[in-house]
Amino acid sequence: MKIEHVRVFILNGEKAHAQQVKQGSINTEGSWLSETVIANPMSNYPEYFDRRSSWLGMGGRVIVQIIADNGLEGFGESTGGMATASIINEHISRILLGKDPFQIEKLWDMMFKITLPYGRKGIPIMAVSAVDLALWDLISKARQEPLYVSLGGATKDKVQAYVTGNESTKIKDRGFMGQKLAMPYGPSSGWDGMKRNVALVAETRDILGPDMEIMLDCYMAWNVEYTIRMAELVAPYRVKWIEETLPPDDIDGYAELNRKVITSAIATGEHEYTRYGYQQLIQARGAQILQPDICWVGGVSEARKICTMASACNLEVIPHAGGLQPWALHLIFSQVNIPYAEFAYYHGADKTNYDVVFEGVQLPQDGWFKLPECIGTGLSLREGALEVLDELTR
Ligand SMILES: [Mg+2]
Repeated sequence: MKIEHVRVFILNGEKAHAQQVKQGSINTEGSWLSETVIANPMSNYPEYFDRRSSWLGMGGRVIVQIIADNGLEGFGESTGGMATASIINEHISRILLGKDPFQIEKLWDMMFKITLPYGRKGIPIMAVSAVDLALWDLISKARQEPLYVSLGGATKDKVQAYVTGNESTKIKDRGFMGQKLAMPYGPSSGWDGMKRNVALVAETRDILGPDMEIMLDCYMAWNVEYTIRMAELVAPYRVKWIEETLPPDDIDGYAELNRKVITSAIATGEHEYTRYGYQQLIQARGAQILQPDICWVGGVSEARKICTMASACNLEVIPHAGGLQPWALHLIFSQVNIPYAEFAYYHGADKTNYDVVFEGVQLPQDGWFKLPECIGTGLSLREGALEVLDELTR
């Protein structure tokens, strides 16, 4: 089997939004993720405080379709819009055409080395990730088996999901492991913001009752001192983990938190890249829970290596957005040290067939994902997908 075509698409945001509104899978006000107050690295600038959409960029979905000479195709995706898509289209695809997709270790190494002169984190690794995911989808289809079988087989037959988002009433009594709250305030909002963060946690504990878990997501907006104070203040409400409180480069800060905060676990990693980034985080003992995003960290190949590195240090891995990304769901089932899958009610994800691009995205049932029954990742382009995707030409 040889790689014959590499097609690269960018989701057309306007067309996709119109399509989602038409199929009733999105509300017209936009997502809580980008349109509500959430503490973030730009929170100290008043003009960007209210909504992350006021500054977020390059978030556009990039879809990769790799077609082999026998007609089989594999799909992958990442974000980063035109920047990511251009790297794949104009650079990475040059080394892929004519190659054997089963030589995935070699291809990953080559992709990393040719993009190394202009980036070891961020956009270039997002590009590598999208291609790696498509290669794994393709080779597991060629083997006529689910992706998790190609990754070593199932380690469990179901996995419990938790929900990220601040709407507790949607989550209670639906079988989920718990709820992860996006913390609205950080150091720039002072003691008043701190009290409001604590009130949100207290109110959530009240709604969820004593047994569901609560986690806090802080999107790189806090510092060491603020995190330690918040951990003390929320301790009475039993918080399972506190996530991504610091900028990703403050590895010493994470190590300090991981030693000093004992009432909650420290989790981080969604903005860390490749085994090299994770090696530093793990060696510093920066977190008890590692959260690589399979579409950003370097794909299935790199996420799997990170799971192995974590297992040698008795650390857990809970992939960022894992329950929303089919490739990640297969990784979750194949790895012993991944206990939960992240899920979120955004972009209409509580509706069946919510995705405008792919058919075959599994949803949790009563809070649990079941072992996928499919060949590869089970993804195919949904009818009308090509109308919301802009293809790059070469
Ligand atoms: Mg997070």
